[in-house]
Formats: sequence, C-alpha cells, structure tokens
Amino acid sequence: MHITDLPFARGFIRVCDDGWLKGWHERNGGNLSYRLSKAEAEEAAPLFTTGDDWREIKTSVPALAGEYFMCTGSGKFMRNIRENPAANTCIIQVDESGARYRLVWGLTEGGIPSSELPTHLMNHEVKKNAGSLCRVIYHAHPVNLISLTFVLPPEGKAFTRELWEAMTECPVIFPEGVGTVPWMVPGGRDIAVASARLMETFNAVVWFHHGLFCAGATFDEAFGLMDAIEKAAEISVKIRSMGDGKKRQTITTENLKQLAEGFGLSLSPLFI
Ligand SMILES: [Zn+2]
Repeated sequence: MHITDLPFARGFIRVCDDGWLKGWHERNGGNLSYRLSKAEAEEAAPLFTTGDDWREIKTSVPALAGEYFMCTGSGKFMRNIRENPAANTCIIQVDESGARYRLVWGLTEGGIPSSELPTHLMNHEVKKNAGSLCRVIYHAHPVNLISLTFVLPPEGKAFTRELWEAMTECPVIFPEGVGTVPWMVPGGRDIAVASARLMETFNAVVWFHHGLFCAGATFDEAFGLMDAIEKAAEISVKIRSMGDGKKRQTITTENLKQLAEGFGLSLSPLFI
C-alpha cells in the first residue's frame, strides 16, 4: 500500500498543492494537520512503524490522547509535497497523557512535524471538546489578508466587518466572524494558547503580520474558508487602494440583519 491509496492522504496532499498554486506558501511557509478518524487510522496502520521515540509536544492536549494526525514537516516546502509526500509530511500519534507524540510514518529524509504543532493540536483539542466535526487545521500566508493587518486594528469586530462587507457571501460562510491575535512570536505555547482560546468561538483566526489559521470538518471546508477570506481581503485591499480609499457605499448593518433573516444565519451579535 502507498500513502496515496488513502483518500484522506490524497485530500491532504491536494490542499498543500492548491495552497502552493494560490501563492500562499512561499518557501517553507504554512502548515496543515488532519485528525484521522478511527477507521482511517486502522486503514493506514499497515504503513505505520512504532519504533520512534516519544517526544515532547511542548503543551498538553489530553483530549487527543491516542489520536493520529497527518501533518506537514517543519521546514518542508508545500510545493514539494505532491512530488514526495513521504519525505515532506508525516503521521504522528499522541500518547496516552497528551503531552508527547511519536512519528509513525513519513519524514523519510529526516525532520520533525511543523513548528506550529502546539497550535495545531491545541486547536484540534478545542474543536473536539466542543463536539465540533473539525478534523482539519490549515495555516497559510495569504498576501492580502496579511496586508490588511497593517491597516486594521487587531480587533475581531473591525476585521470581521471589513471581510463581511467585502463580499455578500462572507457573512453566510463565517457568520461567527473571525478572531485576531496581535503580533506574537510564532512556534511556541503562548501563541498556541491565544489561538486555541479564539478557536472556541471562531473557525478562522488571523495572526497579525503573519497569516491565517482556518478550521474545517473537511479539507474542502478549511481550504474554502481560507480562499473566501483571502478573496474578501483582496477586495478590501483594492477598495482601500482606489482614490482616497473611502467606500461610497457598503453592505450596511441593516443589510447584514436582512441577510441573517434571509439565510437563517446567527451572525455574531458582537460584530453587528
Ligand atoms: Zn506561518
């Protein structure tokens, strides 16, 4: 059996490749993780080796004890994943305490999982604890979204309204809005804790001057959310770049209320 015989692995690889083609993954930028279902882990088991040492996650995710995750490797390039998934991605298992993991497949040329593993796993844990169907956590560096973090305040309301007003389908796609994390050092526990707290409410969390994290039940959902938010950000950047950058008209608060009624949405009252 080859990794690409497994549908979840094919979905994983496709997101990496599509994200690269979108221009969201310069060099080794961005990372992706997928929580395998029990059936998927059983199907993939013939590929697994269990001799690897247990290593510290550098945070604790007890609700994920025993779970398997496919994730990108630290320092690996998204553009190389389709060509050689075994060298650039891995499958890990979390131990029974939720504090350590071991490699069971992949990274055949050496390496460790993404440096953002603590954020990925804490986000997965928050979603699992909330009873969410989320299995995918996706982090990318989309240009327009990052550009907006230089002109909008690091506040959920300001960011959400900018995106909601940019495109009528945005409030339909993310009625809960987006969360924002002001600039922080990436790769550690602090930014993981800040992100996970926001993931309790949102499926998209903006890292200022850095990028975006999206959560979804499927690869389509997580990728689609990233794509929709970046497209809205691009529209916003273009509006702000035209003439004096002032909007002559927009999707108003009243329009948002009408949209909520028409689509049966529960738009976050914090952002109305
Ligand atoms: Zn990043």
